[in-house]
Amino acid sequence: MNDCIFCKISAGEVPAEELYRDDDVVGIVDVNPQAPKHMLVLTRKHYGTMSEIVERGDEELAGHMVAVATKLARKAGIPEYRLVVNTGAEGGQTVDHVHVHVLGGRQMTWPPG
Ligand code: AMP
Ligand code: ZN
Repeated sequence: MNDCIFCKISAGEVPAEELYRDDDVVGIVDVNPQAPKHMLVLTRKHYGTMSEIVERGDEELAGHMVAVATKLARKAGIPEYRLVVNTGAEGGQTVDHVHVHVLGGRQMTWPPG
């Protein structure tokens, strides 16, 4: 039994505001937005982290996630934006299924919390 929320969204078992889908990734609106525009790009196949993808040698998938995130930002009307990949608990990751955040529509600040 797979209880992963992003696997369920990827399988269409849990609804999400879907923006994009192809054979490898899904783009959705984040349910708890941290900026006026906040979207996520997740893999359709379950990987825990970006580290896991890279360790498996699938740099093509890693690059594809960034490319889709970039296109979603453009489509959302935010030519200036931030991509974030929280990795592991210390990295701030709360959903253990790899995803790229796309945040924009306001001035982003640094350092992040
Ligand atoms: P992270 O803390 O980097 O793992 O980010 C997880 C993100 O997933 C958070 O921004 C959540 O708001 C978002 N999230 C969790 N559940 C859902 C859901 N069912 N649909 C859309 N976004 C979600
Ligand atoms: Zn999953």
